Amino acid sequence: MTAHAGPMVGDPLAPCVHCGFCLPSCPTYIATSDEADSPRGRIVLMRALERGEIGPEDDALVQHLDACLGCRGCEPVCPSGVAYGRGLERARERLFEARGLPPLARLVLDVFRRERLWRPLFTMGRWVRRLGIARRLAGRSRLGFNMGMLAATAPAGRQAPSAAALPRAEVPAGAPTVALFRGCIMDTLFRHVHDATRRTLEANGYRVVEVPGQTCCGALHEHAGDRRHAEELAARNVAALAESADYIVVNSAGCGALLKDYGHLLGTDAAARVGARVRDVSELLAARGPRTGGALPLDVAYDAPCHLQHAQRVQEAPLAVLGAVPGLRLRLLPGADHCCGSAGIYAVLRPAMARAVLDAKIEAIAAADPRPRLLATGNPGCLMHIGAGLLAAGLDIPVAHPVELLDWSYAAGGLYPAEDPVSS
Ligand code: SF4
Ligand code: SF4
Repeated sequence: MTAHAGPMVGDPLAPCVHCGFCLPSCPTYIATSDEADSPRGRIVLMRALERGEIGPEDDALVQHLDACLGCRGCEPVCPSGVAYGRGLERARERLFEARGLPPLARLVLDVFRRERLWRPLFTMGRWVRRLGIARRLAGRSRLGFNMGMLAATAPAGRQAPSAAALPRAEVPAGAPTVALFRGCIMDTLFRHVHDATRRTLEANGYRVVEVPGQTCCGALHEHAGDRRHAEELAARNVAALAESADYIVVNSAGCGALLKDYGHLLGTDAAARVGARVRDVSELLAARGPRTGGALPLDVAYDAPCHLQHAQRVQEAPLAVLGAVPGLRLRLLPGADHCCGSAGIYAVLRPAMARAVLDAKIEAIAAADPRPRLLATGNPGCLMHIGAGLLAAGLDIPVAHPVELLDWSYAAGGLYPAEDPVSS
């Protein structure tokens, strides 16, 4: 499914009739009750910016637009079909050109542009995690919350087979080929999710291939309005992934949404062809059923990543993946379709609002009766942010990607060639 509409024509915010139907779906409006922190209020501000009635030097305007999570929860409920995400993209580019970025945002985005910086940094993070330091220091303070985010990247279950423990499943000749998009955080802190992705796809008859030369997808830059650097990163991925395989599989909702939109970002046929072959891992698995695995009797709450359900409009496929695990009791808790407050680097730049948005979700999980034993969601930012919130609240509920649960189920059901499962 394609992420966004085609190239923008005219004003994407023009259809807004100010009805306010979108207000109850907006996490920042729920948190502040301030009209200027609602989609309707921001649309008024963005249109005034577009028409030159308010300038980019207006601090109040910048504050309210910066406070938007970009979750696009306001889009599916809008009866007029306002393309809010496109309008926000345009406004943020305009603000970026006029004002640049605050130093912290610039620093973070500079790191994500350079593999020689992010790879050693996240590798160091894996060591801090492995030594148990992150989990020990996890808590409510700013440092404690960041440590909780790092701790939440660890494989959740002792059922999890290690990266190299299981041999590859037999894949029939002529099976569709799938190039794994490796990304940055996914390729360092979430390697176990890549391993689970490869194993479950192969067990469902896909041939997974490795494609060198990839880098960070550029979504963080694009969300911040830094289009030039988003384009640079996208162009490198398009060069690497062109003609690579029948499909390009992504297991990070945020990355997948932008990769599907590379045609719009770069405006080239090559980029559009890459975008058209991109699938979330749940889409590829759901297209094959997926195969049922062994029993995993577990109460699991599913939280829908915004960039999967709203940006990519993929809603049923992750439920099909979890539905293929016998014994798994799937729960959709109140607010499971609301943003968790992670939103790329938003949680780093605006921790107070990010935590206010997250609190509602954590309260719903804490109040659930019975409480879920695990929370599943298909995006690294959500896994880290919700995982840190659960640790800060003292709730012993691990987080995992849906594909990991299917992987554990396949291991338990003997769908992989026999080897001793080893915990990682
Ligand atoms: S964005 Fe849509 S739902 Fe929200 S106020 Fe405008 S028309 Fe109404
Ligand atoms: S993108 Fe999310 S935070 Fe921003 S206005 Fe829409 S619903 Fe609110």
